[in-house]
Amino acid sequence: MPESPDPAPFIAELRAALPGLHILTEPNETEAYRFDETEYLHPGRPIGVAFPESTNDVATIVRIAAARGVPVVPRGAGTGLSGGATAVDGALTIVLTRMDRILEIDRRNLLAVVQPGVINADLGKAAAAEGLFYAPDPASYETCSIGGNLAENSGGLRCLKYGVTRDAVLGLEVVLADGSVIRTGGRTIKDVAGYDLTHLFVGSEGTLGIITEAILRLRPAPPPKLTLLAFFPTVHAAGEAVAGITAAGLVPVTLELMDRFTIRAVDAALRVGLPEDAGAMLMIESDAGGDAAADELDRAEAACGAAGATEVVRAADPTEADWLREARRKAHWSLEQAGVARMDDVGVPRDRVPDLLDAIERISLDAGLPVGVFGHAGDGNLHPTFVVDREDPTAEGRINAARARIYEAALSLGGTITGEHGTGVAKRGFLEAQVGPDAVRVMRAVKAALDPQGILNPGKVL
Ligand SMILES: Cc1cc2nc3c(=O)[nH]c(=O)nc-3n(C[C@H](O)[C@H](O)[C@H](O)COP(=O)(O)OP(=O)(O)OC[C@H]3O[C@@H](n4cnc5c(N)ncnc54)[C@H](O)[C@@H]3O)c2cc1C
Repeated sequence: MPESPDPAPFIAELRAALPGLHILTEPNETEAYRFDETEYLHPGRPIGVAFPESTNDVATIVRIAAARGVPVVPRGAGTGLSGGATAVDGALTIVLTRMDRILEIDRRNLLAVVQPGVINADLGKAAAAEGLFYAPDPASYETCSIGGNLAENSGGLRCLKYGVTRDAVLGLEVVLADGSVIRTGGRTIKDVAGYDLTHLFVGSEGTLGIITEAILRLRPAPPPKLTLLAFFPTVHAAGEAVAGITAAGLVPVTLELMDRFTIRAVDAALRVGLPEDAGAMLMIESDAGGDAAADELDRAEAACGAAGATEVVRAADPTEADWLREARRKAHWSLEQAGVARMDDVGVPRDRVPDLLDAIERISLDAGLPVGVFGHAGDGNLHPTFVVDREDPTAEGRINAARARIYEAALSLGGTITGEHGTGVAKRGFLEAQVGPDAVRVMRAVKAALDPQGILNPGKVL
């Protein structure tokens, strides 16, 4: 293998150009920035980790990196689940968390202007203080950054009604691969001038540009939610209820699923008092307000009954509802208490959720791998999570074989290999199976046009 060039002159040039730039170069300091939440992917070692504080810092770093052909890896809070922010040998990791200012909440236009390092929950709180609402809320909302959300086009627990991150973006400021800075979109709701570059960067996982500012859509705060839990004898029956709710034309704000394995893990970890013998549970919420919310939940309850629900309970008050929602958000964490929990992410058209659940169950049995399934069932987006013993040397190979079968099943049902966690490193080997060689060729052409040297987050997505 050829030796990497000495990084010292590059680091020295960065320090000279940006004397105030915080930059780590010692391996014991940079180690924590090698990984995201996918430790199984064995990332590389960065030559340094830089913490820019302004768009000018980012642009200068990228300009110097481009001139020297040094690759860069944009990084937000590192909560990603597909390896997008993992370090690359010989690359500089650029951490955007110091650019964490909410620059403006514009009530008159229902929008916010933010830097990429703002934590999702902080934007939610700032909007709420103005009687407004920022809809996208990944389960990691208390730790993940808006930049990461934009780069992954993240989803969450409210997408069914309000859409994913893409649907909340009006405009971006982006540092390109040569260090130049562009603005896309703007403050208008409608804007069809030229190609839609805003949505090209959203979901591009740091491979086409580095987002340094975003104009995000806010909404008036919705009324308080009503929350219902429905329990089913089997996961298939819960899947049928999801299909029934969709077919009834209902669009609740939340329609989340947990299977038996996950229910038990959550209950063991958090002592919520969920029924141990339930085969699956749906959490359904309405923020339609007053009688409309009660009516929406009545109709959802009827669909659950038709699918064979054994028990339906409603949260007594908002505190109990918050508590139940938190239990759902902690599903992955709860499974982690039982061993290594490898969370995956697939999606299918909503009427195929029961088929996907059946396929996952079959694959888990065949592989002899326990699986907890939970996720955004109302979006057709599930997170099958294999839970294995930390010391089992065969686990890695068996999980890899099983997850390939799950992607195959999702694709055969007209679905996707990833609904919201992204392609990253984890799934790039499966991308062509979904989109086909011609679409991959177009993606490569876009990448080559925007990043001809291939220095932006190399080895990710494509
Ligand atoms: C417990 C748990 C629950 C989760 N729940 C959900 C969920 O419900 N829905 C969901 O969609 N995801 C979920 N995630 C995944 C993860 O939180 C999201 O993908 C999140 O958006 C990542 O944000 P981050 O700031 O941590 O980004 P990072 O992990 O740091 O980076 C993610 C990607 O974005 C790129 N990137 C980061 N910042 C920028 C920038 N400014 N410009 C360009 N590229 C950038 C990186 O290069 C990388 O490719 C969950 C993760 C965990 C651990």
